[in-house]
Amino acid sequence: MRLVGLAYVGVVVAVFAAFRVQARTEAPPAVAPPLPPAPTLVAEPLSTTALVPVPEEPAEAVLSEVAQSESPTRDVVAPPAPRRRSYRSRRPRRYPDPPTPADWAPPEGPVRIALQAGHWRADEAPRELSGLKRNGTRWKETPEWEVNLEIVQRAGAILEEMGYVVDILPAVVPPAYRAHLFIAVHADGSNDPNASGYRVAAPRGDATGRASQVASLLAQSYGEATGIPRLPTVTRRMRNYYAFNFQRYEHALHPMTIAVILETGFLTSSKDRRVIMNDPERAARGIVEAVTAFSVTPPPAAVALAGEVSSVTNGS
Ligand SMILES: [Zn+2]
Repeated sequence: MRLVGLAYVGVVVAVFAAFRVQARTEAPPAVAPPLPPAPTLVAEPLSTTALVPVPEEPAEAVLSEVAQSESPTRDVVAPPAPRRRSYRSRRPRRYPDPPTPADWAPPEGPVRIALQAGHWRADEAPRELSGLKRNGTRWKETPEWEVNLEIVQRAGAILEEMGYVVDILPAVVPPAYRAHLFIAVHADGSNDPNASGYRVAAPRGDATGRASQVASLLAQSYGEATGIPRLPTVTRRMRNYYAFNFQRYEHALHPMTIAVILETGFLTSSKDRRVIMNDPERAARGIVEAVTAFSVTPPPAAVALAGEVSSVTNGS
């Protein structure tokens, strides 16, 4: 009886051990099934259908969406939430406690204006922004970045003449870049040739509390200078522009840099091209007007002149 009992125990132990061994060989679970292909990042103007006047959104935000989910779950049934959480936990926020508008202070030195030519030198994008290499619109042989660069170079020349310090920035922003004001310049594209208009947006997470003021000024001055109609739609994609996302990207603006993004018009619209491609000086003037009208970035020459006048009246 005792022997039978021992044998019984032995069998149980053996079975249990075998089960454990098998379980162990099965763990960890097999590699996850292959994921469907990533969503396309290309913002080819002719690749999407926009039948309504609402134009397609620029491609930049597609980049940020891909970076956030790190998986092509956007159009897939699988719920993205747990994945996003784990992604966040692997990537700590760069500014866990970002400054607030009360902390805003102008950068040291003379008034510095940054004008970014959207998509310019995007091939230099670091890994965290690799999606940048594949977006931007075009008109025939002219890529968007050429149009953007022409406008910002003209605006920069006028501003320098006025005494501003100007940085013309490429698609990749230096880490934690600081300026008194940053304006990203882009152009839209659509397969609808009637899609026309410019639009301006402030960052969604504006830590300076001043960006919406610049956005209003720019929306007004750009429209007056160019005669292009304003599109009232401010898209989530513009507001989540990668350069504004200081929480996530190393190559982004410092949270205290006041920033806006301007979509100058549609490269696919003959009406808009008349200005942004054929008369970029007008677009440049629209940008300059907003800079000079903004209380944080008055024309340095005017400030110096005011200082001279006050020193004269003080008898020095
Ligand atoms: Zn663009």
